[in-house]
Order: sequence, then C-alpha cells, then structure tokens
Amino acid sequence: MKKYLVKPDTKVNLSKIDPSDTGDFKGGKEAALIEFQKLNAKLEALQELLYAEHKHKVLIVLQAMDAGGKDGTIRRVFDSVNPAGVRVASFKAPTAEELDHDYLWRIHKQTPAKGEMVIFNRSHYEDVLVVRVHNYVPPEVWKKRFDQINEFERTLAESGTTILKFYLHIDLDEQKERLQARLDDPTKRWKFRLGDLDERKLWGSYMEAFEDVLGKTSTDYAPWHIIPANRKWYRDLVISSILVETLEDLKMKFPESEENLDGVVIE
Ligand code: ATP
Ligand code: MG
Repeated sequence: MKKYLVKPDTKVNLSKIDPSDTGDFKGGKEAALIEFQKLNAKLEALQELLYAEHKHKVLIVLQAMDAGGKDGTIRRVFDSVNPAGVRVASFKAPTAEELDHDYLWRIHKQTPAKGEMVIFNRSHYEDVLVVRVHNYVPPEVWKKRFDQINEFERTLAESGTTILKFYLHIDLDEQKERLQARLDDPTKRWKFRLGDLDERKLWGSYMEAFEDVLGKTSTDYAPWHIIPANRKWYRDLVISSILVETLEDLKMKFPESEENLDGVVIE
C-alpha cells in the first residue's frame, strides 16, 4: 500500500495514475470483500483502544471531485466502528461568519481531541482547490496557503495528532456515470446539483490544483495518499489497510486500572 503514498516535494502528474488500478489484488471483488471484513473488525478494535488509551488523536482527511466517493468511503470503511467513537466534519461553502475569520478558524475547531477519530469530508484544502479554481481570492493569497497548511498540520502532529490524507482519484468517465446514476435514480436525485456540471467543465483546472496540493502538502507528519477510486471495493480496501496499519504502528495499550483490582470480589 506504500505505493499510493505521495513523497514530500514531488511533482505529481495525475494523468499518469490509473484510477481503475486494482493493484496486486488478483482475487477480484469477492475475495477483496473477505479481506475488507477482516480489516473492518480490526479497525473496530483499534478505535476502541484509541478511545480507552486517551492519548492519540486521529485525523482522516478526504478530498475528491464531485461524486468521487467521499460519502461512500465513510459509510463503508467505518461501517463497524462504534458510532460514539468517530465524528465526521463536513465542510461546505463557508458561512458569512466563517468568511469573516481566517480560513483555518472553522477547521481548527473540528480537529480531534485525545482518544478521538475525526473524518474531514472536504477540508481546508478547499481553500486551495475550489477557491483557486474560481479565483475567490487572488493567487498571492492562495499561494501562501501551502506553507500555512503545512505549518498548521505540523502543529497538530506535534500535539499528538496522527494525520492521514486521502485523495480519491476517479476519471471523467467514472464521474459521468456516477452523476448519471444520481439523475436516473429517484433515491439519489437529491444529491444531484446542476452546479456539479459547471465544476465538471473545470476538470482540467481542478486536476492542476490537486497536483499542486498533493505535491506541496504531503509531509512525513501528514502524508497524502492517491487512492485509485474508480473501483469502490478497491478504494475501500486500500484505505482500510492504510488506516489499520497506521493505527497498529501507534502500539496503543489499554490503560492500567486505577488500583490493583486483583482479588476484588463482587458480592
Ligand atoms: P457530494 O460530493 O456527495 O456531492 P459535497 O461534499 O459535494 O457532497 P455539496 O453540498 O454538494 O456536498 O457541496 C459542498 C460545496 O462546498 C462544494 O462545492 C465545495 O467545493 C464547497 N466548499 C467547501 N469548502 C469551501 C470553501 N472553503 N470555499 C468555497 N467553497 C467551498
Ligand atoms: Mg456535491
């Protein structure tokens, strides 16, 4: 799974990365599901441990184009995790109050506390993606944000936050299919926004913006992964594997009981 990691200060070319990649997974979807269930169970246990130990903080950042699968990833990957132990923070277009502050203000408030696992569905990266593509602020403003974001994330990391960032990589054809499915299925129509079609026309500009983000803000303490996401089962499997491996590396332990409980008898 290391091959999906973006090394710091690299030049990323997304057109060279296959969104339909299924890696070495020759077993196909069925076999992948069995593997995925095992990872789900592990993640459930690791989250319990994270909460019990009350030491580490875990932040998962998801970014993708419209219909890229952020919601589906959250639903599937965290399927078995205790809902009390994980929180999703979704970032939409900023409110008037949020716009009156710096762009990290609303983000910092949502970062995880000790023992917590927080998933960012969109994030501060919108401020160098949609904001850049639409010229909501001039280039001299957004260009400074790469360094600012790296420093912000360094602060979080040095305060005990494990940060994992995932870009869900789909292509134009896959987006078309998924948007079409939203149009055709009455139960999915509510998700369809005409505005998504305008964004779709800006695909090239978005890819350029993403390439900059991935190349400039992947660090040792807050790495990006580019996840091939045309195949949902593979996307889920890769993200689960990376999460489980990262959490296992924390070597978490259940805390000692406050007193020696050996020999305690409950009458
Ligand atoms: P889906 O991908 O399933 O459609 P969504 O995350 O796109 O879900 P929407 O309500 O459709 O949810 O869109 C949220 C919108 O908010 C996106 O278009 C996103 O670009 C925009 N947004 C988020 N952060 C910012 C920001 N800082 N500045 C401007 N727009 C933002
Ligand atoms: Mg949307």
